[in-house]
Amino acid sequence: MPGTFKIELDTPAYKGSVSCNTGLFINGKYVDAVDGGTIDVINPSTGKLLTKVAAATEKDVDIAVEAARKAYKTSWGLKVHGAQRGALLMKLANLLEANIDEFAALECLDVGKPWSESRIADMGLTLRTLKYYAGWADKIHGQTIETGEAKLAYTRHEPYGVVGQIIPWNYPLTMLSWKIAPALATGNVVVLKPSEITPLTALKFGELVNEAGFPPGVVNIIPGYGPTAGHAIAMHPHIRKIAFTGSAITGRKIQEASAKSNLKVVSLELGGKSPNIIFDDADVEQAVKWAAIAIFSNSGQVCIAGSRIFVQEGIYDTFMKAFSTAAQGLSAKTGDPFSEGTAHGPVVSQTQFDRVMHYIDSAKAAGAKAFIGGDRPSHTTSEGFFINPTIFTECTPDMKILQEEVFGPVAAVVKFKTEEEAIEMANDTEYGLASAVFTESVSRAVRVSNALEAGMAFVNCNVTTEYNVPFGGYKQSGYGRELGAYAIETYTQVKAVHINVGLKL
Ligand code: NAD
Repeated sequence: MPGTFKIELDTPAYKGSVSCNTGLFINGKYVDAVDGGTIDVINPSTGKLLTKVAAATEKDVDIAVEAARKAYKTSWGLKVHGAQRGALLMKLANLLEANIDEFAALECLDVGKPWSESRIADMGLTLRTLKYYAGWADKIHGQTIETGEAKLAYTRHEPYGVVGQIIPWNYPLTMLSWKIAPALATGNVVVLKPSEITPLTALKFGELVNEAGFPPGVVNIIPGYGPTAGHAIAMHPHIRKIAFTGSAITGRKIQEASAKSNLKVVSLELGGKSPNIIFDDADVEQAVKWAAIAIFSNSGQVCIAGSRIFVQEGIYDTFMKAFSTAAQGLSAKTGDPFSEGTAHGPVVSQTQFDRVMHYIDSAKAAGAKAFIGGDRPSHTTSEGFFINPTIFTECTPDMKILQEEVFGPVAAVVKFKTEEEAIEMANDTEYGLASAVFTESVSRAVRVSNALEAGMAFVNCNVTTEYNVPFGGYKQSGYGRELGAYAIETYTQVKAVHINVGLKL
């Protein structure tokens, strides 16, 4: 019998109960995994077990895909008017809004995010994404194309059918909304695998899917491990499209699996090592605030984190003084996500803690200087996975800290002289997700942002994702776009229809 997780919280940020089902959500029901396997879900703030959830394997993926296929044939796809799909999505959004505090609390428990980040930033973006794509559902249309009087030609933007979606642990519900909302709006049905590390809000979301009245099988949510459940989704012959967000290493495996199985269409949102360039003429106070948000929010576990900071020599000392003060301030506000004033939480897991500490050690060994941080905040418990906001200086381009994604609260700062030098160093990476430029000169802002090899360029701001603006990378940060109208293309295929209206043979 699939169980439930329930906990009573009495904290400054949230008072009340938090609960979710712990079975796999397949065909509108919560069920145990066929093999009975489970996953331990750990609270990153305490290192203690929160609950166990069912772990899907290939057999469960098969069952979920079958349920989705049936739903697609009988009760979804283009059979259902876009307005109806949109109304259901809007109902789902409204239900989430009505329960938003509980979802925010569940995310804090599962990921360790400070309450303000979870409740305001993540839940806000999640909600806006659902509502935005609810509005799109009845606005999916193709073109009519002039081909002479004897023929009528037009295009239809049709769904793929069963879409597989695999997401990471850093923004569990937000990533789910970026995947599920455009897929459903365009008439696809979904088998989504949340990260095994953070499955709780995705499982709770299934309850809202039922309450909103979606036909069973349209949405299936199955936690499981990557090499088993994830691989089975990537290999499944009846899944026609796969949307993946996660590391570049896994992205390659997804692409290989697609090639080996049925050439399913793949979109990949992968990692980054985003440059943040601050010129002498920038508003330094603002640049410091944005730099701190860009690398320390969500404990640096942000794919577009501004992890390489290039500062022009004229303001370098001023910048470093203020930036390290900002990091120290955050260090003092490190703690339990629900406590008053917490602005910096733990990283998500022991594995992630060890990984980040390994990068910190390797940077020190390579000769970089830990200007600030590089350890645990002294006032935090040793059971939680807390790491101080960390700033490295005296870094050289060949160091791992400048080339590899740390995915933790670790900034590498490099001094530069000229614009050309900054652009060259910024582009010296295999990643190309985001970039940022701080300058008061409009022409420089345009010139530099145009020159940066990245799918996103922020000017005098950073990491401010908008639900209606496309999100995605260049180079090994992936391909395909999420959010905005671009995601509609990601989830539809184009059919050209040729109608003979007068040609006689
Ligand atoms: P990950 O690649 O380890 O895991 C992501 C997902 O893939 C998880 O659900 C995991 O279970 C699954 N998976 C693992 N192995 C698999 C396999 N062989 N086949 C199929 N699925 C498999 O990444 P993570 O550690 O969860 O997340 C961190 C990474 O995600 C970082 O690199 C980060 O930059 C990236 N990320 C990118 C974006 C973006 O939009 N570009 C957003 C968030 C996170």
